[in-house]
This record gives sequence, C-alpha cells and structure tokens, in this order.
Amino acid sequence: MLWALMLQIVISSLLWACTAAPAPAPAPDPAPAPPPVVALITIDTWRFDHFSAQDTPNLWALAQQGQRYDNAWTPIGLTSPAHATMLTGLMPWEHGMRANNHHGYRLRSDVPVIADTLGLVAGAFVSAYPAGPAGGLDRGFDIFDGPDSGERPGRIAVNHALAWLSKGEPAQHSAFLWVHLYEPHGPYKGKGATDSERYSEEVALADATLAPLLAELTRRGSRIVVAADHGEVLTEEPCGRQHERSIAPQVLHVPLFVWAPGMVPSVITARVGLSDVPALLQGLAPASHSVWLAESGMCEPSCAPGCAPTGLAGRDAVAMDDGGRWIHRPGLGTFSEGKPDPALRALAESLPPVPPPIGASAAETAALGYVGE
Ligand SMILES: [Zn+2]
Repeated sequence: MLWALMLQIVISSLLWACTAAPAPAPAPDPAPAPPPVVALITIDTWRFDHFSAQDTPNLWALAQQGQRYDNAWTPIGLTSPAHATMLTGLMPWEHGMRANNHHGYRLRSDVPVIADTLGLVAGAFVSAYPAGPAGGLDRGFDIFDGPDSGERPGRIAVNHALAWLSKGEPAQHSAFLWVHLYEPHGPYKGKGATDSERYSEEVALADATLAPLLAELTRRGSRIVVAADHGEVLTEEPCGRQHERSIAPQVLHVPLFVWAPGMVPSVITARVGLSDVPALLQGLAPASHSVWLAESGMCEPSCAPGCAPTGLAGRDAVAMDDGGRWIHRPGLGTFSEGKPDPALRALAESLPPVPPPIGASAAETAALGYVGE
C-alpha cells in the first residue's frame, strides 16, 4: 500500500510538473505593519452637544465603532488643570494645578504622569500655550511641540504628529501620542452670522483637521482616546463665549470616547470623568463616579451672578449626583439644584481653597484674596 501511495504521489507530481504554468516569482515580503500607538486627542472648548454625526462626522463615525461615554465630566473649565487631570488621573486640588500655567500654577512634581506610566516613547503636539509645557504638562514626554505663545492652527500639530510617527523610534515601536487642537476656543473664526454659528464652524474644522491622523492611527491598530478639556457657554449665561467663569453643564459635560481594534461598540451612560483618561489609555475600566466634584475656574459676578469673591480664588464648588447638585459659593453659602443627596452638601463645601500661584507678586496674591496669608 505504501509503495502504491508513493507511486501515486510521484505520478501526480510529474503530471503537475508537466501541466502547471511556471511558478511565479515569490512576492516580496509585505512591509511589516507599523506598530500601534496609544493616542490621546484633546479638543479644546468642545461642547458635548456639538459631538454628533452632523457636527463632527469623522469623530462620530469612529466613536460608533468604539466605547462612547455619554456621561463624562471635567473637574474645571480651564485648559491647564483639565489637561493635568487627563495626564495624571487626579483632580485639580490633588495634582496642584488649580488654574492655567500663565497664572503661575504648576503640576505637583511628585504626582505620576501617564507618559511615564505607559513606558513608551512619548510625543506631545499641542496648539495653545495653556496646554504647553509651562507648569509641567511636558513631564514624561520625549518631544513636546507647541507654540511659544498664543495658539496655532490644529493642522500644524497634526502634521507635526504625523511626521513624528513616520520616522525614527515611533515608526518602529509603539508610542504614546498626545495631540491637542484649539480651534473651538474663542475668538471664533468663520463665516457664520452669529457666535454660535462660528463656534460650530470651528468644531467642524477641528474634526476635519483630524481626519488624516485618525486614518493613520486606525491603520496602525492604535488605541485612541478622544476628549474635550471642557465645553463652552454660548448663550446660556450673561457672559457668552467663555468657560472659565462657569459651572454650567455646557462647560462641565464633555465628549469622551475610546476606539481600539475589535472593540464591541457601546454607549456607556454611567458617570465618568477626565480623571479616567489614564485608565482608558491603558485599556482599563473607568472608575465608578456616583458623585462628581467640579469647580469654576474663577468667579466674576457679572458673568456668574452670585459668585464671590471675584478672581481666581473665588470659585463655585460643585458636587453632583443623579438627582441634582450642590453649589458652594465661598462666603455666600451653599444651595442645591434639583434633589441631590443631602450628604453631598459637605463635599461641595470641602474643596480646598485655591493657593496663590507660585512666584506670585504681592499684588497678584492680594488680588486673589490672600492678603496676610
Ligand atoms: Zn481649554
């Protein structure tokens, strides 16, 4: 039987050799797939109600294939502290950056940052000074690329990020990438007749600007976390086109989603926050936040009636749950909106006061209400 089988194989081989076309030359090995990236994309001043198929088609399409967190919150409507929360997982009163870097506030030097935790070569490409290195947001990054002052178009940050990914170590190994776009932040540019129309144009421009980066990141099978640092007041309060003075839901409620290859699409309605970003970047589950704490970046009674004292130190503190929220106004008392758990009142009153910025002059310190301290 064995001989018969071998003979059959030989005959078959000869027949194949006689009838088959010449074997084609072997194809060259395809280029190895570029390594995946762990990516954080932040869009400044992006309202939750401007995250939709109409407002942000590229981001919305990606979010439909990932995990969308529709109940996500920022602890503050200020760029530097909110980004510090995303990079550390800590709240502003924990990581120490209670106001923007240009006011002298810094990230505490002893708190861990996600760029170190991930242990990957890390690059940051930001579009405005408050997201820049001053104050310590650059800690853990091998390259930190941004404007020396003011802002720059998001396409520059995107182009620089794509160039960085295309060569050297990020082209050969997994990397951590942070890209920050500033388009929706005022002053709004565009052709619209109203501020709201021009704001929508800026949001759409940010979305379109990100398209080539999203294509490259998804091609590489990356893990992508997309979030806003805070939203914006348009027409809801006496002072529109701002966020730093407000605790309005339009400021505190932010878009947040994660995309990774093979992810089961889902919409999560449990409350999460920007302090969960480091966990999401690592593929971990967010924490459970039945209660969320937040504060305004400053108070200005003409913009947020009732808040006091004026300035960086005079903040509204907020503790919210599913029933409503407690708002504590220093020197003016604590009141509720809706029906929050009564026990949360003490939480709203517990946020530590804002320290004067490091290196503040006597005049600045006095302006913050710290005379004699
Ligand atoms: Zn911002």
